[in-house]
Amino acid sequence: MLWLSSFEDERRVSSRPMSLVAVVGSVNLDLVATAPRLPRPGETVTDASFARHPGGKGGNQALSARRMGAGVSMIARIGDDTEGEAATALLRDGGVDLTACRVSHGTHTGIAVIVVDAAGENQIVVAPGANRLLGVSDVDVAGADVVVCQLEIPLPTVEHAIRTAAFGVLNCAPARQLPPGLLAECDLVVVNQTEADFYGSDLAHARLVVKTLGADGAVALDRGVEVARVPSLRVDTVDTVGAGDTFVGTLAVELANGASLVEALRMATAAGAIATTRSGAQPAIPTRDEVLAARERLES
Ligand code: ADP
Repeated sequence: MLWLSSFEDERRVSSRPMSLVAVVGSVNLDLVATAPRLPRPGETVTDASFARHPGGKGGNQALSARRMGAGVSMIARIGDDTEGEAATALLRDGGVDLTACRVSHGTHTGIAVIVVDAAGENQIVVAPGANRLLGVSDVDVAGADVVVCQLEIPLPTVEHAIRTAAFGVLNCAPARQLPPGLLAECDLVVVNQTEADFYGSDLAHARLVVKTLGADGAVALDRGVEVARVPSLRVDTVDTVGAGDTFVGTLAVELANGASLVEALRMATAAGAIATTRSGAQPAIPTRDEVLAARERLES
């Protein structure tokens, strides 16, 4: 695959072998209003501040994996508009390979409208645009050690990516009905508490499930039996947007690097915690060095 070659130089100078991750998913531009509180239906809340950040669960997880030191290819679709440029800016700057990120004409780049309140709680509405057009024929994940998908793109595309993956990670977010058999084909399924409630006993079909627990960290279940539990770091949370995506990207890379499940969970919970201490999704994602430093401080 073309994108493998773009990491060859980095691979040569790296002291440890570089894992290759393909993320098949959404790219959005996040429009974020930080308000004193979240509005009730029909209500207007004023006095908000405003920022635009690149986002989308796919984009966020790709950048997280990249900041953790993996070679990352983003397989996605954006619109032929200025939002597409803005939505991919941090991926490009961060060294994510965008060769397989294609432009769809006649539609807009995915947009997420986000409201965050003073306590860091959020409400999100997504207009998927070009993300809806990411098709099976866009997906070639040969050569990737790990393939990471979420559910903001068409399900046949997710199924194809997971089926053809060497190691397929499915973050079942946002929760939606899945084709029969898909959970059983994943090597790893990641859900938060809301998603775990949505899928209920269906999650027992998956080989390995990691459930994130917000400030309480994360738990891993092997066919329904708890096999690991890790607390999160205690931090001053500013904004929880992107914490789950940071967790998923980090977990995927650590597992691809050969870390044990518990060790990978420790890194992922620490990365998720750090992400909550800064506002926005992608700007908040920590580097591997930051995660290691935070863990050292905790353990010393
Ligand atoms: P999501 O963002 O998908 O709803 P969670 O809220 O479970 O997922 O958060 C994902 C991870 O981010 C958690 O496992 C944890 O490591 C970290 N995290 C989230 N919120 C906090 C918090 N308030 N304090 C510390 N860590 C947090």
